[in-house]
Amino acid sequence: MAVLYTLLLLVTCALSVVMLLVLFALRRSRTPGVRCWFAANAAATLALPLFAARGVAPDFLSIEVANFFMLGASGFMLAGYRRCFSRPVPLRMLLAGGTATLALVAGFHYILDSLPMRIVAVSAFHGAVCLAIGLTVARVPHSRTRYPFRFAACAAFALAFGHFVRLGVYALQAHGHDGFLDPGLWNLSFLAFGTLALPLLTIGGVMIVYEELVARANELANRDFLTNAWSRRAFFEIAERERNRALRGHPALSLIVFDVDHFKAVNDSQGHEAGDRVLVGIVHQVQSIIRSVDYCARLGGEEFAILLPDADRGQARAIAERIRASVMEASATAGMPGCTVSAGVATWLGKPETMVELLRRADDALYGAKEQGRNRVVSAEEMAPGEPAAAHAAVPQAAVCAHGR
Ligand code: GH3
Ligand code: MG
Ligand code: MG
Repeated sequence: MAVLYTLLLLVTCALSVVMLLVLFALRRSRTPGVRCWFAANAAATLALPLFAARGVAPDFLSIEVANFFMLGASGFMLAGYRRCFSRPVPLRMLLAGGTATLALVAGFHYILDSLPMRIVAVSAFHGAVCLAIGLTVARVPHSRTRYPFRFAACAAFALAFGHFVRLGVYALQAHGHDGFLDPGLWNLSFLAFGTLALPLLTIGGVMIVYEELVARANELANRDFLTNAWSRRAFFEIAERERNRALRGHPALSLIVFDVDHFKAVNDSQGHEAGDRVLVGIVHQVQSIIRSVDYCARLGGEEFAILLPDADRGQARAIAERIRASVMEASATAGMPGCTVSAGVATWLGKPETMVELLRRADDALYGAKEQGRNRVVSAEEMAPGEPAAAHAAVPQAAVCAHGR
């Protein structure tokens, strides 16, 4: 049994080494928490051989020093999760709890030698730490895939439960016999369970880091760097998705395309940076007007599109009017001197119409608004049928090729 016990500890140690290698590969992710998780596994890698050396190495090393590293491993694990979630690390609480636990371990070694009571003390600490990790991870950040967070939270809560059960079992056994290599079923099952603790929590952390990296990459690919509106690439993906949704029974789908009037003059008279600020300001205004289900994308330069799911012709036009009026109002007050926008609105005609065709109709309407004197909204329906496409169309041939069907 002693051999099995040592073997389990060494397997756990080997798992921690594997986790160290995995975390080493993530060092460049610059995700907060990775270093702490690395430290946690490094501490466990030191602690576990010392536990395994019980009876061979001096007791001080295999009890106090081993537990010191193991408590440190737990503390670093929690610190990693707290940092990963941009939450404060309860350093004082961890230090106080760790010191008190270590004092109890030493007390139940040198004053009243009791293995069950030492296990009760360390289980309380590890259980509390796992509970804190679970509570930290339980709140899934908005717009993230739930699985990694649920995985980590379930692992942490299950481990906390395991530690508290262990605490209860050994508290009851406290007056029983004190055999470190107790072959009892509890001893073995807790040990096997404990083998998984650090690797599970580390894997949970690695999955969360991976999710963050994917989210970050998506954000970079799908958002316009200057205005944080959706990028042109993302717009066509979103439009296609919304068209499919519309085909499944939500046929009202509208599009507004708007363009800043005489923007070149803004740049020429006030400088490119002022022009940039105008673009940012306009998108900010648009975001405050559109609904949470709508998508504002920068198609290029000073031209934007707003996709409006579940919005009919009248609603889309009303939103476009509000945007136009609000930009004009802002231009009369502060921030965006002399700025107005022209907008074209088109409502999806149903299954035969592709999103590229819808965009082209909205763009034609925008061109109509420019021709009619700017600072106005024109609907596609107001345009004479067969009117030629805008010379400065938002739908270059490349886009038609890439997205048309
Ligand atoms: P119109 O009313 O016909 O739209 O006239 P306009 O001057 O707005 O249109 P034009 O296409 O002649 O000029 C667009 C200008 O937008 C030219 C370009 O320098 C500027 N522009 C494009 N992208 C950016 C940007 O990211 N930042 C800034 N500051 N200017 C940009
Ligand atoms: Mg313009
Ligand atoms: Mg333009």
